[in-house]
Amino acid sequence: MNEELELLRDTAIRFVESEMAPQDEAARHRGHVGHELWLKAGALGLLCADIPTEFGGGGGDFRHCAVIYGEMTRRALTGMNVGSHDIVAHYLLNHGTLAQKQRYLPRMASGELVGAIAMSEPSAGSDLQGIRTRAERVGDAYVVNGSKTFISNGHLAGLVMVVAKTGAARGTQGTTIMIVEPKDLPGYRVGRLLDKIGMRAQDTAELFFDDMRLDADSVLGGVEGNGFFQMMSDLPYERVIISASVVATMEGAYEATLRYTREREAFGKPIAQFQNSKFKLAEIATNVKVARVFVDRCIEDLVAGRLDTAGASMAKLWTTELQGKVIDECLQLFGGYGYVNDYPIARMYVDARITRIFGGTSEIMKEVISRAL
Ligand SMILES: Cc1cc2nc3c(=O)[nH]c(=O)nc-3n(C[C@H](O)[C@H](O)[C@H](O)COP(=O)(O)OP(=O)(O)OC[C@H]3O[C@@H](n4cnc5c(N)ncnc54)[C@H](O)[C@@H]3O)c2cc1C
Repeated sequence: MNEELELLRDTAIRFVESEMAPQDEAARHRGHVGHELWLKAGALGLLCADIPTEFGGGGGDFRHCAVIYGEMTRRALTGMNVGSHDIVAHYLLNHGTLAQKQRYLPRMASGELVGAIAMSEPSAGSDLQGIRTRAERVGDAYVVNGSKTFISNGHLAGLVMVVAKTGAARGTQGTTIMIVEPKDLPGYRVGRLLDKIGMRAQDTAELFFDDMRLDADSVLGGVEGNGFFQMMSDLPYERVIISASVVATMEGAYEATLRYTREREAFGKPIAQFQNSKFKLAEIATNVKVARVFVDRCIEDLVAGRLDTAGASMAKLWTTELQGKVIDECLQLFGGYGYVNDYPIARMYVDARITRIFGGTSEIMKEVISRAL
């Protein structure tokens, strides 16, 4: 942290407390936060914080993003998947043509376009080589057919990176990322909002493409067949987004639990004074501290360009597994109130369950790590 990051943190806190928190209940019922909130976040510089200013971004680095994600998740506010949005911006920054960057990045930074990444399909999640969506070159256009599921920000998305098969090449060589701006695009259809157990304010949708025609310049980077390489090279960034959010959630859960157990009394004294509570809180505090140090180190390495996929996968595996344990133990110290949605710890508990699954499951993280041993 430094003074500039502290100022950004203050802005993020003001946004989270004055804009996100009051609307969270309504967003949880609706299943999405609405586009207006994204525009407000954009106006405050909370989107694309690590994209260069020449493309409309904040001109910072990943530390800036981590501050923003952290202030949302430590308050159990998960309605905006800013991480997915920033990943889309990074795909453009790292792999897009100059024209693609100029066309989309400023509109993403302002919140005009909400970003989504569409990899997963009904029959392909962990095994992305099994995707069936096809983008067929026809004259000077591409015709896309297929479907996607579980797409974060899918309902509100104004810019979708669709992973598709192209050409005759098989396997990794035949995978291409297509840039799709869905507004008024024939053949593009958003399906239902998925009825999830947690992250209920965050939209997760199905997408369908029926003879959807795209201009020839819709290929990310302009060259077919680079999709797998592009996805793989951005994996450390994506996994640290999850780890940074997770560690902030654990900190938020710990702080809320400490406050609660000091206030709530049983048998004539605060819950926090029972030996079991003290020991549990001591364990939780230790785990959270170790996680913070490890993730901060990963953030430093990412910013310095030396975090590899195995290292980022270790961070994702370890922090998300730990999150499950830490939040479960925090909830226990709340007693029955921990099970009631009025208390953020209840939302953190259900929200936490997905982090071991999305962005690559814990089992896939172990596969990736074991290959690098
Ligand atoms: C809320 C939410 C948001 C999401 N957001 C997005 C998004 O924005 N974009 C997107 O593209 N996807 C998104 N996903 C999809 C997510 O990335 C996938 O659910 C995840 O990658 C797992 O794929 P799957 O569900 O098909 O499970 P499967 O791949 O069917 O796996 C089922 C089980 O088998 C295990 N398994 C699979 N292969 C192996 C193996 N080789 N060795 C050992 N075990 C294995 C898995 O670990 C898992 O336990 C999201 C999912 C959810 C629920």
